[in-house]
Amino acid sequence: MDKLETDAKQVLNRLGDLSSFLSTLDVASDRDECFKIPLDIMQKTMSFDVSVLYKITNAVDDTLLLKVEKIFDPDGYRHDLVEGRRLELDLKDPDPIYINEVRAFRHKNVSSINVPNLGCDIMGFVYLPESFGGGYLFGGDFCGNEASVRDYEASVCEIMCNFLSTILIKTEFENLAVYDSLTKLYNSRKIKEEVARVSSRFERKTGSKACVVMCDIDHFKMINDTYGHLQGDLVLKEMGALLSHTMREFFDVAGRYGGEEFLLVFDETDQDQALTIVERIRTAIENHGFLRTDKTGKPIDDEFLTITLSFGIAENTKTSGIKNATEWISRADSALYASKENGRNRATVWTGDLS
Ligand code: GH3
Ligand code: MG
Ligand code: MG
Repeated sequence: MDKLETDAKQVLNRLGDLSSFLSTLDVASDRDECFKIPLDIMQKTMSFDVSVLYKITNAVDDTLLLKVEKIFDPDGYRHDLVEGRRLELDLKDPDPIYINEVRAFRHKNVSSINVPNLGCDIMGFVYLPESFGGGYLFGGDFCGNEASVRDYEASVCEIMCNFLSTILIKTEFENLAVYDSLTKLYNSRKIKEEVARVSSRFERKTGSKACVVMCDIDHFKMINDTYGHLQGDLVLKEMGALLSHTMREFFDVAGRYGGEEFLLVFDETDQDQALTIVERIRTAIENHGFLRTDKTGKPIDDEFLTITLSFGIAENTKTSGIKNATEWISRADSALYASKENGRNRATVWTGDLS
């Protein structure tokens, strides 16, 4: 079998790998996960001596700002490329070492160069809309005097970059559909869906228990009124991070139910256990110093805010008489209301006389 045929088969197989990765990609994937497998596949297919992924951080006037995201250079050919390094390239008069980066960026397409006796360089463009953070450049070098880019190699790089672009866009859209962009918790639709999923189990399975917990920030309007809306947003963001941190330890899922309201789902947990966990979360939040920002969103050092949450807990079992997710959530909401009425910064477990 001659070399070209082997290469072609290998390339097709690898494109197949990339395509199946795309179809099995999980919703929760973050950027790093999106890149890991495709870059590995690309590296193996192309057999670059050096491969590099740049994030396009900005392009203003005649300057292109790139950040080296990932670099694979086992033989140490490119000391100028270090992960995290920022490059400022002149688009009109680029440094010859980065001329291919500039060309790929300008044409929004793959570009390749052969430099006699030194090697060759392919650079592809990975499109991602500005609203999703802007695109990437991916490519690599073949080093040595025998090296030159074959036409099909540039095409493969182009296809790979288009795949990467599709993978990134798909992940961004799926994340948008599931996560709340400010708090990074599940959005309202998704968290209600989770409650419904757990709730429907009680019809089928006796003996299981679960709790939903509705939480609401105390006097949140005052935070906005006193310190500005940006401060309010920062509190929500930090609250999301605190809840998702405690979530991994104690419970399953958390979502932003509404403006400053959150819903937690504790599966296989009875109301006494839920109350113990909630008390721990409540105390952790009460003792946390929330970051301060001025009205323009600029951080203020060494100043912190104390914020509290009120909680309402509702247990569901086969015999609790809860017909559906809405009724379950509404019990948690009544319990939350009681916490507010009784002075806030507390947790209440739903009982029949609260309805
Ligand atoms: P309580 O202790 O009774 O819950 O009082 P509260 O002030 O927290 O409740 P209220 O319902 O009066 O006010 C909620 C405020 O939350 C009003 C609304 O402007 C604010 N809010 C809702 N969503 C957001 C948001 O995304 N960002 C900011 N900054 N504020 C928000
Ligand atoms: Mg509130
Ligand atoms: Mg509220």
